[in-house]
Amino acid sequence: MSVGPAVSGPRRLLRRLRDVMAAQGSAQSKLDRIVRLVAADMVAEVCSCYIMRAGDLLELFASEGLRPGAVHVTRLGLGEGLVGHIAARQRPLNLADARSHPLFAYRPETGEDDYKSLMGAPVLRDGRVAGVLVVQNRAPRHYDEEEVEALQTVGMVVAELIAGGELVDPDEWLAPEGRAGGPGLVEGQPLAGGLAWGRVRLVRPRPPIERLVADDPAAERARLADAIDALRAGLDRLAARSRGAEPADVLETFRMFAADSGWLRRIGEAIDSGLSAEAAVYRVHEDMRMRIDPAADPYLRERIADLEELGNRLLDHLGGAHERPGAGDGGEDAVIVARTLGAADIMEYDPARLRAVVLEEGSPTAHAAIVARALEIPMVGKVRGALGRFSEGEAVIVDGSDGQVRMRPDDSEIAVLEERAAERARRRDRYRALRDLPARTRDGVDVRLEVNIGLTIDSGRLDELGVSGIGLCRTEIPFMTAPRFPGVGEQTDLYRRILDAAGDRRVVFRTLDIGGDKRLPYLPAIAEENPAMGWRAIRIGLDRPAVLRRQLRALLRAAAGRALHVMFPMVATVGEFDAARALLHRERRRALSRGDPCADALVVGSMLEVPSLMWQLPALLERVDFLSLGSNDLLQFLFASDRGNAATARRYGLLSPPALALVRQLVEACAAARAPLSVCGEAAGRTLEAMTLVGAGVRILSMPPSRVGPVKAMCRSLDARPLATMLDGLRDSPMDDLRPRLRAFARDRAVDV
Ligand code: PEP
Ligand code: MG
Repeated sequence: MSVGPAVSGPRRLLRRLRDVMAAQGSAQSKLDRIVRLVAADMVAEVCSCYIMRAGDLLELFASEGLRPGAVHVTRLGLGEGLVGHIAARQRPLNLADARSHPLFAYRPETGEDDYKSLMGAPVLRDGRVAGVLVVQNRAPRHYDEEEVEALQTVGMVVAELIAGGELVDPDEWLAPEGRAGGPGLVEGQPLAGGLAWGRVRLVRPRPPIERLVADDPAAERARLADAIDALRAGLDRLAARSRGAEPADVLETFRMFAADSGWLRRIGEAIDSGLSAEAAVYRVHEDMRMRIDPAADPYLRERIADLEELGNRLLDHLGGAHERPGAGDGGEDAVIVARTLGAADIMEYDPARLRAVVLEEGSPTAHAAIVARALEIPMVGKVRGALGRFSEGEAVIVDGSDGQVRMRPDDSEIAVLEERAAERARRRDRYRALRDLPARTRDGVDVRLEVNIGLTIDSGRLDELGVSGIGLCRTEIPFMTAPRFPGVGEQTDLYRRILDAAGDRRVVFRTLDIGGDKRLPYLPAIAEENPAMGWRAIRIGLDRPAVLRRQLRALLRAAAGRALHVMFPMVATVGEFDAARALLHRERRRALSRGDPCADALVVGSMLEVPSLMWQLPALLERVDFLSLGSNDLLQFLFASDRGNAATARRYGLLSPPALALVRQLVEACAAARAPLSVCGEAAGRTLEAMTLVGAGVRILSMPPSRVGPVKAMCRSLDARPLATMLDGLRDSPMDDLRPRLRAFARDRAVDV
């Protein structure tokens, strides 16, 4: 008897789903068949599908196993019950005993009291929750990893069904708020400064992927390979005509990702599971999104967004007609309004015609925003429902600095706008002119300015910025995108490239700050209530020393012939620092004994992000070669205030008596111990905060590249001594927020903040 090639479980399910999707019938009937199919395939008594409706409500749309009367009746809010919880967290949930979960919400109309175990996965489309799929069983049961993945894949199929627009109007969940004709002023988040006016050009989201399942993986792999070649060629073409150093850096990042074998391998594996090349690209990206907690470090989220942009471009090359503004497209004076837009998309556009960008999503650290800033295109993000709010061709003013979009402007408003734009252009030219001048205060205090980087930077860019070094190299990104721990060789190459680009400037490598909310697929996650305060960074490094040692080995190798500056993140005790440093020395001894290439000298420091270290300063300072204050984490732990929580962000900050008391105490202790102290959190790049840090005695500031110009201008217009005196006087101030006082100081003394 001859049999065809064995068809694995996931592929079998996918084929059946494909048949359902290809069959005649309404979207509702397809959804009904899908839940029946999944229930049968997973031997589950229940499979239900909830779909997101307006007002963030998840409505039960189809169910095999729950009472039919509950369908289109049961609704749960985002975050309500386990289904709402899955949607809110955008993560699968797998519970052997669902009813004992504190969030279990009993809905009598569903009859679900009989079911004990539950596994659910969000239905995501372009990173948004479009629904939730759930399977349930009467008996306690643990669903295995393969089943969780299978349900996620089904989620992808359902997402496409939803995006077809027949089940619910996609605008219900794509643009939950705001239709045309709202008030004249629309508020969003400032992403790239500047003012411009132009005419709206709407860019609609990608249409559904039509072919999800494929029978011939080899053919799909060949299509993928062709698309990747085209993608690389497209990036090379953009690089050849890229304007300015930052866009070039961004393209370099993209090219690096495009050559990332881990990313490509994962897409290949998804193809082998039975998906079409398009669906595989999409699947890998949804998966990646899901691994990043919404509260994760914004920087990491953005690098995942970069990969996603590459994925979108790959989809274009695979033939999916993703509507994007092509070069020369869209007419004169275009203001692009889109859900999201990639950095390369912006570069494709003719800068002489693109006036501004308005996005429903977007964030300041996104590459798209970085490129927009470099090309001086104002950008406003987080404008909810933007696509539904503006009409094609209408005139708008975009204020990228204030994050506002004015609809239907009159002539006088346009005149004011032009004057403000001219003022900004003058300021920018001034920053450029400072490039080769030192960051020296008017009274002669030298401040060393450095940059924070996460992937690579080229030497031209460092020259152009006029900085003294790289004060913080976050090393976790390549780890996030790889399918397994990058090998020592791979890491060595990467670190060496950074060191080569830096030339004589110092580069401070921070060892992996991973864990908690920054998950690695190959490092089993542990359930944590407070991941920011959980098993992360050096805690993982010390508990899993093999990981840290391999990184240290690569760093030592890469720094052969020069000194290696390395620091450890999230150190909470001197003992942790000692243990981490001992690993470094052990690796160095190993390298020397084997005759391996190795750094000539070690300069070893610690991040100061956990307040407990403040009470161990003498012991710490005896051991470290330098300290770097990570204001992002330190402030969150000092004030017990989540760094990503907008509700408390304004209440607590560096410009307050307790935070400044800490800084001054640290400055004094470091000075006495002759240990250099830098500040490398976001505060170092904000002019008023940077001014205050200099006044408090900090002499090294490390910041995102775009902040170097403004901070240098601030330093050069400051008299540090009177500020120090004023800060002395504020030591015991009862004011919670010293910002008004510091602003007044800057204003009275013409400090450029
Ligand atoms: C900080 O906490 O200030 C810091 C620089 O580290 P990260 O932002 O990477 O957590
Ligand atoms: Mg930190």
